[in-house]
Amino acid sequence: MSADSNSRFPSLNIVDDGADATANQPNGATPAPAEGDRHSKVVIVGSGPAGLTAAIYAARANLEPIVIAGYAPGGQLMITSDVENYPGFPDGIQGPELMDRFRQQAARFGTRFVDMDVEKVDLSGRPFRLWAGGAEYTADAVIVASGASALWLGLENETRLRGRGVSACATCDGFFFRGKKVAVVGGGDTALEEASFLTRFATEVVMLHRREAFRGSKIMQQRALANPKISVRWNTEVADVLGEDRVTGLRLRDTVAGDESELVADGLFVAIGYKPNTDVFRDWLDVDEKGYLLVEGETHSKIEGVFIAGDVHDHHYRQAVTAAGDGCKAAIDAERWLESQGIAEAVTASAW
Ligand code: NAP
Repeated sequence: MSADSNSRFPSLNIVDDGADATANQPNGATPAPAEGDRHSKVVIVGSGPAGLTAAIYAARANLEPIVIAGYAPGGQLMITSDVENYPGFPDGIQGPELMDRFRQQAARFGTRFVDMDVEKVDLSGRPFRLWAGGAEYTADAVIVASGASALWLGLENETRLRGRGVSACATCDGFFFRGKKVAVVGGGDTALEEASFLTRFATEVVMLHRREAFRGSKIMQQRALANPKISVRWNTEVADVLGEDRVTGLRLRDTVAGDESELVADGLFVAIGYKPNTDVFRDWLDVDEKGYLLVEGETHSKIEGVFIAGDVHDHHYRQAVTAAGDGCKAAIDAERWLESQGIAEAVTASAW
């Protein structure tokens, strides 16, 4: 694997409108729109597959969207190496390059980008108000596509070796562990599912769980425990990830006795849950018991004119292609809603 989580978007050609290009900008980011240019018919929050697909569709419908892309634009694919299941790339593509292409396509039709995080929103009335980098943006419609983030253990070497043996996505990276030994940390359904999935490739899968009982569903437990390739180390936590250029093993700690030991392994899959990126929306939009945004119909939220797309509401599929499909739907719904409000011209028939 060769993920490069620091990749930016070198091939972009974003309009520089003369605004202060340096304030609050990460390296390689594009300048924010100038003050008089901070209103859009559609502001999209998030720049993963959902947000950027929404931008492509909204831009082609002449909605001149602004994407508030975040300080780390591109979403979860920016920390994924080879993507081999995104249709249209028979030889696979690196996650960062795929997102670069999404972004180029959105930029080509006039999308404006703000590479900052949304700090606050006010969805109490229209135009909707959003703040990023201290500046206020206004929108007739908002598409929330802020995604979800995998939870990590928080170890320094876990971060350093991400994409080089450390992963949070067996569907994305399991293939690269054919004939290898891997460890999966976590005791919920995600960990059980990832462990079972990984046995398609790995010769041995060691589950590491900090307690002596799984949290996951009975059926998933039974399936994992019945699999001869899977073994479980109870009361075990990962103290460190070992390896220079790629993972070679783990230092483990017994959570009861405190003893430490080493495990030889080629990979570590961290499966301790996901966190939807909903912090700024929680005062305005409803969430389910897991904290994911609740959608009405396909992409509508409980606030008219605010739409939802991608992993911020979908904890079931969590795939780039399903998120992209969601972004497309949200843009179409937003455009039709704007038409119904007399804000956008009826260009739908020719725009898609
Ligand atoms: P989860 O149920 O919250 O489980 C997280 C697991 O990770 C727990 O076992 C937890 O240990 C462990 N953990 C958390 N932080 C840790 C840390 N810092 N170090 C070590 N271990 C840590 O999350 P999930 O498994 O992602 O599931 C989330 C939801 O999605 C659940 O409702 C689940 O049923 C659902 N889901 C369903 C399916 C399916 O049906 N196919 C598949 C995946 C997920 P403790 O047990 O000690 O807290």
